Formats: sequence, C-alpha cells, structure tokens
Amino acid sequence: MENCPCGLENSYLACCGKFHSQQAFAQTPEALMRSRYSAFVKNNLDYIKATMRGPALKQYHRASGSKSEGLPWCGLEILQAYLNPQNPDIGFVEFKAYYQLPDGIGALHELSEFHRKKGRWYYVDGSWR
Ligand SMILES: [Zn+2]
Repeated sequence: MENCPCGLENSYLACCGKFHSQQAFAQTPEALMRSRYSAFVKNNLDYIKATMRGPALKQYHRASGSKSEGLPWCGLEILQAYLNPQNPDIGFVEFKAYYQLPDGIGALHELSEFHRKKGRWYYVDGSWR
C-alpha cells in the first residue's frame, strides 16, 4: 500500500483523499495543510481554491494561480501546528514542503495562518520563513 502524499502512513483514500472527495472536512489546521499539500501533488486545483479565503485567495486570483502549482513536490514536513490560545478558530502551521529540481531539492518554508468558519478550516495567509 502506498502512503498518502502528505507523508502519513495511511492510504490516500483514508487520509487526504476523503477531504478531496468532500466525504469529510479537515478538523484541524494541520489536517487541512496536509490535504492542501496532497492536492498540489495531485494537481487538484479545485480543492486548493475551495480551501482558501481572504488574502490567500485574493493573492491566488491576482497571480492567476499559485507559485506552488506544477512543482514536482516530493515531501512535506510539519514543524509545528498550534491554535491561537485566545481564539481557537485561528490556527497556525509551520511547514517545509520539498520539491525535486534537476539540480537538487528545494524547500518552501512557510508559516501559514488558518481560520475556522462555520466548522470548516481555511488557509487565509502565509509568510515565508
Ligand atoms: Zn494525507
């Protein structure tokens, strides 16, 4: 059995796949982050768009796409994930996403911000580290 692209030892269908097919919604910012990474691997741009709001979505439209599209992603590392202690509807995930280029492996290191609206988490903003 092949592991999910997000790196968890679970099949794609039992892991991020159930979010992509909308059988379930990610319950934590980390789960949403992992499912968005897997969506980039699977080139599922509908899911990428559907899980963004606010500045992230505006930026996506302004750039007519994301810098992360089409890169040969080869791994995800979650460095930390936490909720805002004053407001548990705001969460953060710091991660490194790795991609393979002909001359070596590159990494996108980002601190992403997530907001929960009506029980669903959305990616709203990110800053490069
Ligand atoms: Zn997964």
